[in-house]
Amino acid sequence: MKKYVALFGSCMFLVAFFSMYLMLDQLNLHGSLRSRVSMEMGQTELDFIKDKMENLENDIHHNQQIIDEIRNSVKQIIGGENMSKYIPVQRNMAPLVEEVPDSPVQAKIETGDCSFVERQGEHSDDVQMLDVLDILPFDNPDGGVWKQGFDIRYTERDWDNQPLKVFVVPHSHNDPGWIKTVDRYYLDQTQHILNNMVDKLKVDSRRKFIWAEISFFSMWWDNIDAEKKDAVKKLVENGQLEIVTGGWVMSDEAITHYYAMIDQMIEGHEWIKRNLGIKPRSGWAIDPFGHSPTMAYLLKRMGLQNMVVQRVHYSVKKQLAKEKQLEFMWRQNWDHGASSDMLCHMMPFYSYDVPHTCGPDPKVCCQFDFKRLPGGRVNCPWKVPPVPISDNNVAERAKLLLDQYRKKSKLYRSNIVLIPLGDDFRYDKAIEWDQQYGNYQKLFDYMNSQNWHVEAQFGTLSDYFDAMWDRAGLQPGSPGLGYPVLSGDFFSYADREDHYWSGYYTSRPFYKNLDRVLEAHARAAEIIFSLALAHSRHIDVPSFPAKNAYQMLIGARKSLGLFQHHDAITGTAKDFVVVDYGTRLLRSIMDMKRVMIDSAHFLMSEDKSQYDPETTTTFFDMDEKRINHDALPEKPILQLSQQTKEVVFYNSVAQARHEVVRLRVSSSTVEVQDASGKVIPSQTNLVWTAAQDSSTTEYELVFIVNVPPLGLSKYLIRDAGSEVNNPYNAPSQVTLYNTGSPESSVRGVFHISRPISDNRDFTIENSRLRAKFSGTTGLLQSVTTVKDGKETAMSVEFLMYGTRETKKDKSGAYLFLPDGEAKTLDTNGKAVIRVIRGKILSEVHVLMKHVEHVITLHRSPGIDGWSLEISNVVDIRDQRNRELCMRLKTDIKNSNQFFSDLNGFQMQRRKTLSKLPLQANYYPMSTMAYLQDQDTRMTIHTAQSLGVGSLQEGWLEVMLDRRLNQDDNRGLQQGLLDNKRTPNQFRLLLERRHQRTSSPNGGGGKQTGVDYPSLTSHSVSQLLNHPVYAFIRNKLPGEGPAGDVKLSGSVQPLVKALPCDIHFVNLRTVQAMDAPAPTQESVLLLHRKGFDCSFPANGLSCSTTGGKVQLEDLFRDLDLTDIKATSLSLMYDGQVLNSKSTLQLDPMEINAYRIRLD
Ligand SMILES: [Zn+2]
Repeated sequence: MKKYVALFGSCMFLVAFFSMYLMLDQLNLHGSLRSRVSMEMGQTELDFIKDKMENLENDIHHNQQIIDEIRNSVKQIIGGENMSKYIPVQRNMAPLVEEVPDSPVQAKIETGDCSFVERQGEHSDDVQMLDVLDILPFDNPDGGVWKQGFDIRYTERDWDNQPLKVFVVPHSHNDPGWIKTVDRYYLDQTQHILNNMVDKLKVDSRRKFIWAEISFFSMWWDNIDAEKKDAVKKLVENGQLEIVTGGWVMSDEAITHYYAMIDQMIEGHEWIKRNLGIKPRSGWAIDPFGHSPTMAYLLKRMGLQNMVVQRVHYSVKKQLAKEKQLEFMWRQNWDHGASSDMLCHMMPFYSYDVPHTCGPDPKVCCQFDFKRLPGGRVNCPWKVPPVPISDNNVAERAKLLLDQYRKKSKLYRSNIVLIPLGDDFRYDKAIEWDQQYGNYQKLFDYMNSQNWHVEAQFGTLSDYFDAMWDRAGLQPGSPGLGYPVLSGDFFSYADREDHYWSGYYTSRPFYKNLDRVLEAHARAAEIIFSLALAHSRHIDVPSFPAKNAYQMLIGARKSLGLFQHHDAITGTAKDFVVVDYGTRLLRSIMDMKRVMIDSAHFLMSEDKSQYDPETTTTFFDMDEKRINHDALPEKPILQLSQQTKEVVFYNSVAQARHEVVRLRVSSSTVEVQDASGKVIPSQTNLVWTAAQDSSTTEYELVFIVNVPPLGLSKYLIRDAGSEVNNPYNAPSQVTLYNTGSPESSVRGVFHISRPISDNRDFTIENSRLRAKFSGTTGLLQSVTTVKDGKETAMSVEFLMYGTRETKKDKSGAYLFLPDGEAKTLDTNGKAVIRVIRGKILSEVHVLMKHVEHVITLHRSPGIDGWSLEISNVVDIRDQRNRELCMRLKTDIKNSNQFFSDLNGFQMQRRKTLSKLPLQANYYPMSTMAYLQDQDTRMTIHTAQSLGVGSLQEGWLEVMLDRRLNQDDNRGLQQGLLDNKRTPNQFRLLLERRHQRTSSPNGGGGKQTGVDYPSLTSHSVSQLLNHPVYAFIRNKLPGEGPAGDVKLSGSVQPLVKALPCDIHFVNLRTVQAMDAPAPTQESVLLLHRKGFDCSFPANGLSCSTTGGKVQLEDLFRDLDLTDIKATSLSLMYDGQVLNSKSTLQLDPMEINAYRIRLD
C-alpha cells in the first residue's frame, strides 16, 4: 500500500509539472493571453514562473533522481498518515497570478507644501561649516604653548574702558557609567561630591557650583533627608547651585535619535520641576564626541537660552578662534528666518580639564588646579606643580593667572570670560573644595583689589551668560546680540593629529540596535498606554492596571535615557558596564511588551467592563522573545490547529499601514482570514536550521495586514491541514546555489531545486523593482525601476578594514585608524545561496563566513513594496583587529557629496575631502544616508545607528562591526572584544526625480548644508524604526475553545489619519507631582517633516494639509480638554486652545501640546 501511495504521489507531481510547463509555453506564444495577465503582478509572476521553468528544465535531466528523491521523501513523510495531505501537486500549482492587492498609490500633496523646501536658497549665515571644511588646510602646525592654536597677544590698556569680567565656574563631570557602572560611581564618588557640595557651598555665599546629570542627582535625592533637601533648594534659590542642561544624562549627539534625546530631557526637566521647582537655562555639553545642531534646536525649543560645547575638531576651533567666532548664534540649516538661533559658546582648547580651561598655556593653568598640590594623587604632567596661595606669593600668582584669563578673553568678543574649574568626578573629597575655593578666593580678592581692570569671581554658567546679555542691553535669549550666525555641525571630531573619533559611530553595534529596539517599544507603549488609560477613564473601568504599567514606563524612560549617555550608546564603556546597560535595556523591553499587551488587551476587548488584568498567563504573547540581553531575538511558534487563532497587529504611527508581516507557525499549510472572516493571500516559507536544512516543525507565515493609524487589527489563522482547496496560501519555491549537489527535492509542500549551472545571474522582482543578483556570489548587482525600465548599478560588497601596524595609535572604541583601503571578503562562489520566491515576498540569502546576508523584496501595495530590505547577521568573533563594512557601488554621479542624517531629525550635506584621511570622511548615520545626481537618488535607511562614508563617486558604505584588540588611549583602557552575533537591518530605496534638478549636489551659488528626504523615504524610515507589533492570543486557564473574552475586529483611535508629513512623535502621560503615578494629562508631540517634492510620493495613501491638524480629527470617542501649547520639555506653557482649534505646524518643527484626554 505504502509503495503504491509513493508512486502515485510522484506521478501526480510530474504530471502537474509538465502541464504547468505546457501552459506557460502557450502563454509565452500568445501575446493576447500574456497581456491579459500582464497587469503589474502578472508580468512579475510570469517572469518568475519562467525562471522556475528554467530550473525545471535542468531538473528534468535528472528526472530519475527526482523520482527517487520524491519517492523517498513521500515515504518518509507519510508514515502511514492520510496521503492526500502530502501530495504537493495542487499546492505548488496554486494559481500564482493571484489576488495580492497591488494597485499603486501616491500621496496627495497640497499646493504650497513643496515651497518650503524649494525656498532653501534664502538661508543666510556668516559661517557655513561646509565652507570652513573646504577652506581649512588641516595642516596642524605647532602653535607654541597653545599647541593647536596660535600666540595670543594683548596690551594692558585693552580693558581701560570696560573691565574684564571673569567667571570661574566649578563643575564636576559625572559619567553615568564608563569605567564603572552608574551605581558604582554613585557609591564611590557621586554621592560624596553632592554631599560635600551642600556642606561647602554653605560656608561662603560667593561659592558657586553647576550640575548637569539628573540621573545621578535623583539617585542622591532619594537618599538624603528633608533637611538636606531644603538646604539644596536654598542653594538653588540664592544662585549658588545651578542645574545646567538638566537632562537625565549628557547625551551623545552623533548617534542618538531625537525621540530619545527629547525623552531624556523631559525626564530630567520634569524631575527638576517636581523636586526643585526651577527651569534650566543653559546647556552644558563638555564631553560628547562632536556636536549636532539638533541639540541646539531642541534646547532652543525647550526654552533654554544658552549652550556650551567643547569637543570640536582642533582645526575648526582654531579657525573660529582666529575670527572671534567661538561664540555664535547656531542656526538650523533649514531655518529660513532666525527663530532657531541659539547662543552657543565653544570652548577653545584641547579639553575641559583645568590645564585647558584657564587660558592657552596648560603648563600655567595646571598650576591653578589645586587638587594637584604636591602630595595628592594627581599632579601636573608639565612638571610645574601648583603652590598654595599665600600673602607672599599672591601678587605673582594672581598676575600669572590673570595673564591667562586675558589671553583667553581675546578669543571672544565680550570682555567677559568663562573659566570652567573642574574635571571628571572632581570634588569628591572635602579637602578639594577647601583647596580650590580657598585658594581661588584669595586670588580673586587680590586681583579685584588692584588697578587691573578685572572683576574675578566664582559664577554659575548662567551668571556668565547673563553678564553677556546684560552688557548688550538685552534680555537673555532675545534676538539682536549681533554675534555671527553659524550653520552646520561639528562632525567628525579629532582631538589631535589624525585621530578622528569616527569609530564610535559603530562600536558595540549590537547595543546600538538594542537601543533602537527599546526606543521603538517605549514609544509604542507610551502611546497605546495613554490611549488605553484615557478610554478606561472615559467608560469608567478602574480595573485597567494604570499604576503598575506607568511604573514600568517610568523605568523604561530611565533605562532609555541612561543609555543616551555619551559612554553608553557610543559603545565606549568597559565590558561589564556594557552588560549593566544591556540588562537594563532588556528589562525595559520586556516591561514595554507587558504594557503594550495589557493596553492592547483592554482596547481590543469588546466588553471592557469585564476586563481582568489579573490573569495568570498574559492575555497575549508578543511575536519576539529575547532570552538574554546579548542574544538575538527569537520568534515563538504559533501552534496551529483547525481552530482559528487570533493575532492582533498594532501600528504606532498615525498613518494607516498596509504591509507584510511575518510569523512563525507550526504548519506549512495555513489559512489566514481578516477580522471579517475573508480569507486573504498568504505565503509559507521554510525556516532554515543550517545552510541546506530546514525545520519540519516550524514554518514562516507571511501575509499583508491593514492596520489603522495608531490602531489595532485582528487576523485569524488556522492550520488548513489537508484542505487542498486553498488557493490563497502558497508555499514559496526554493533554489539553492553552490551546494555542490545538483539534486532537487521536495520537503513537504516545498520544492527545492539545485540548478547545475550555478553562475547565471538571477532576479527577484515585484511590479515596481527588479533586483539582479550575481549567480556566483548571490550579491545584488543592480536595481531596475520597472515603470521606466531604467537600471541603476547597485552592487553590494562586504569588506574588512585592518588597523595601523605602528605600535601606538591603533583603532579602538573611539578612534578609527585604518591601515588603508578596505579589502573585499573573498566569498566568490563559496557561499551557499538560497533564493526563495513567493507571491508575497521573495528573498535572496547569502551565507558568508562573517555575514548572513538577506535581501527581501515585498509584493506589497504599501510602502514596503517600494524598497529592498537588507538584513545581515554579522559575526566577526574569530577576527583580530578587523572592521567589517558593507559597501554599495552605484553609477550615481554624486561627485564627492552625499547626505547623512543627524539624529533622525534632519539631513546634513557631506563632502568627501581628499585632503583628509579616510577616517575623517566617515560620518554618523542614525536613520538614513543617500547619494544623488540629477535623475536618481539612492537612500539607505537603517534600523540602528552606524558609521557611514562615501569614499568614491557612486559608493556608499556602512560600518557593521568592529573588533579591536587594543585601547586607543582615551581612558577606556581596553579594546573591543565583546562582539556578539549582531543583527542589522536596512532598506534600500531607489527614486527617480520627476523633475530634473540642475544641481542636486550644490555647485554654483552659495552652498547650503540642507537637503530633504522624500515623503516615501520618511515612510520607509518608519518601517524600520516603528515596526508593526504582533500580539498572539493565548488561551487562558478555564477558557472555552474560542476564548471567553471577545475581541473587536479593529480599534481605530483616530478620527482621521494625520497628514503624511506629520509624525506622531509621542503621547506621553505626565507624571504626578508627588508620586510615580499617571495624571490625566498627556503631552502630545508632533513633528512636521520637511520633504523633497521632486520625487513621487509612492506607496502612500495619505495627503498633506499645509501643516494643519484639526483637533476634532484626532481622538475618537474621547473628550479632549485643557489643551495648551507647551515647550518641548514642558517647562513653558503657551497658547491655550480648545477642542475645535486647528493646530498649525511649520515644516521641520516639533511641537508639543499638553492635553487632557478622558
Ligand atoms: Zn563623560
